Amino acid sequence: MQNSLRTQILNKAFELLSKYPLCDNCLGRCFARLSLGHTNEERGKAIKLLLLMEIDRLIKEHEIEDISQLKEVLYNIGSHAVTLYQNYFNDNFQNRSCYICNNRINEYKEKFEEKALEKLEKGKTFVLGVKLTDELKRREERFMIENQLFYYESIKNEIKREVGKNLSKQGFIPDFDNPQVEIVYDIEYDVVIEFTRTTKYLAFYNRLSRGIPISSWVSKTGDSLESVLGTQTVAPYSESVDFRIIDDYPLIVENMAEKELHVKGFHILNTSKVSGKELSTIYTIKPIKRLYRVTIYSEQEIKDGIRIYDNLYDIFIEAKDFKELLSRLNGFIVISVDVISTYGKSELLADTYIKKAIQHT
Ligand SMILES: [Zn+2]
Repeated sequence: MQNSLRTQILNKAFELLSKYPLCDNCLGRCFARLSLGHTNEERGKAIKLLLLMEIDRLIKEHEIEDISQLKEVLYNIGSHAVTLYQNYFNDNFQNRSCYICNNRINEYKEKFEEKALEKLEKGKTFVLGVKLTDELKRREERFMIENQLFYYESIKNEIKREVGKNLSKQGFIPDFDNPQVEIVYDIEYDVVIEFTRTTKYLAFYNRLSRGIPISSWVSKTGDSLESVLGTQTVAPYSESVDFRIIDDYPLIVENMAEKELHVKGFHILNTSKVSGKELSTIYTIKPIKRLYRVTIYSEQEIKDGIRIYDNLYDIFIEAKDFKELLSRLNGFIVISVDVISTYGKSELLADTYIKKAIQHT
């Protein structure tokens, strides 16, 4: 064990500090993924102290020919090196600012926390974000790559992690997957921006009434499913407002709390939260074909139709969508239209999500 204890961390730290002045935080962050349970500031300070002891030993044992070579690295270590420096050199110690954060990382954390506290509401879950300046972002990336820092943690991550920890100690609830608000600190302008996160749900609906559309903007009377629900509602595909929909049609609803709803002739089943790729895929799904039941009035007998009463017939027509259906119904007196089912990926979508939702209840 003792023989395998090599001083790679110390060598790496010496190499870095020969080139760049680094504060305790930024040096510690270079080894952040080693020995968890400490702050980066503690890591950086520990490495610097060990390095100073090692440097002192080398000088005392006359292993360094020209000790003035050490000046640079001592300046770059910063205030912890002042006493040792004064022991060996007569000139003034040079104070340098951290190459990465310009000695401002703790100031960023304090300001972020202070401003986040002004925005956050107790009881609402949050996630934090940090917007670095372009210059800082580039400098950090180059630093990490050029020095091959495999255990590096980004400055952004350190700020988010530590401020988040302090906020949760004060009773605010972090939630990385489904936060209600996102609080982003913009370092350049020293401002905190709050975003309300909306959660989208995939629901399926049947419309057993006629004349009420999904979206408010297509509604002539002002009545719509969207206005009843009071939240943004988008249908990946739809039907003419006068058709009843017997099949399960998808609907993306924002922040829907109910599992099931009956309103204005709509039956809505909320199946699950959807986001990202899954959500964009759902928007692209359209049926290849739809099966309609059309009730028509005809004085002549309709051979393919089912006579339901006197001159009333039901006919079943497959069409790409309602526009194609309407063009094929030219010349008929149409009483009503119902959508019975769809074919293609739309069928699979409803089957999969509804089955999953029913299993979970
Ligand atoms: Zn720094």
